[in-house]
Amino acid sequence: MRRIILVSALSFLGAAPAQAPRPTAAPIAITGARVIDGTGSPPMNDSVVVVEGDRIRAAGTRARVAVPRGATVADATGKFLMPGLVDVHCHINQPAEDMKRYWLAQLRWGVTTMRSAGNDKPETVPLFRQTRDGAFLAPRSYTAGQGFNVSGPYPGAPTFRPTSPADARANVQSLKAQRVDFIKIWMTNPMFPPEVIAAIVDEGKKQGIPIIAHVTDVASLHQLADQGVTDFLHNPIDQPVTPELVAYAKARKLTFAPTLANIESRWFYYEHPEILNMPMLQDALYPRGKQMLADAARKEQALAAPDLAQRKARMREQTYPFIKAMSDAGVRVATGTDCGAEASQITPFGHATHREVQMLVEAGMSPLAAIRAATLDAARVITHSEDPEYGSIQAGKAADLLLLDADPTVDINNTIKISKVMRAGRWVQ
Ligand SMILES: [Zn+2]
Repeated sequence: MRRIILVSALSFLGAAPAQAPRPTAAPIAITGARVIDGTGSPPMNDSVVVVEGDRIRAAGTRARVAVPRGATVADATGKFLMPGLVDVHCHINQPAEDMKRYWLAQLRWGVTTMRSAGNDKPETVPLFRQTRDGAFLAPRSYTAGQGFNVSGPYPGAPTFRPTSPADARANVQSLKAQRVDFIKIWMTNPMFPPEVIAAIVDEGKKQGIPIIAHVTDVASLHQLADQGVTDFLHNPIDQPVTPELVAYAKARKLTFAPTLANIESRWFYYEHPEILNMPMLQDALYPRGKQMLADAARKEQALAAPDLAQRKARMREQTYPFIKAMSDAGVRVATGTDCGAEASQITPFGHATHREVQMLVEAGMSPLAAIRAATLDAARVITHSEDPEYGSIQAGKAADLLLLDADPTVDINNTIKISKVMRAGRWVQ
């Protein structure tokens, strides 16, 4: 009645509303699930999570949260609800239509936020903003645009290769004009001269664009962290982690995305045909990666390599103690995989992020801590905020959810037992 009166009053005044009001969908109440909220708090049984529009309106036990009248009830009794996964280290330099396809595949795997860490052409940058505006169904995606790499991470990569501080500043300004979300620096050999690095970092600060950096040695870590960079991909592997390095990282509030999945994928999928054969995995690979994984000779070569056991041990030795020491000390560790990287074709979108969480547990983190690393903490890394608008199941946060058939706190491998995924309040089909 009230609406009718309002409309007649407006017509009477000749002030028709500019737009028809958007039909408001009924709220969704997800009931009965065990909730792992992403904050690291103990799981909550018999919950009610109310979603309205693209937000979580309420989340709590059934005793505390009522199912709103008219809500669509999704009975999740016996299931496990966690925030959607966040991957802070991917790449997706593909034609626009293909990007949309891979994004959807990644979303179906429960990755509801991703960050593309360089190698994105200027013309694709607006697509990333569209994923956040809900223009099409995709993970909330961020881009570092082209990035800075002396030799290019692969032939033909669209990275900047400035040779002087002035060039470096001009390149950062062009990234600003593209409205990228981050600036990426690869501290790989050959390295940029220190004055070029300093100019990139300084101009990034002037333009208000956060820097993210690929770092695998302690000297490069210090070089950038001393200039105020905090957001690191990979971890130093040139020397074992020391209490001094942990203290340094803690004092400067550094964060790390160790990015193990791309190393492990060199053998993991060959060793796990049950995962390789999942149709969802096929959709999440580039054609060349798919071909590589289907190639019997390649598989034979990968699995029969005389140094395979050694390479596996080296990966663990160079990363697990680092992860354990940093996370025990309260240094933020987040999930990143290098999924979609041109140079690591066999690191798929989606599943790789699950493997990363699983390996954080293998490294010694508890399942709850690893889930926080893959949700709230990864969101904190991306947003540079302690209270990001996504990454946890709490009232007011984005309704990006992953519903599981089995408990990931009992066995972290259960994160791939996906029942349903919700992105911005919509179930993903
Ligand atoms: Zn990368």
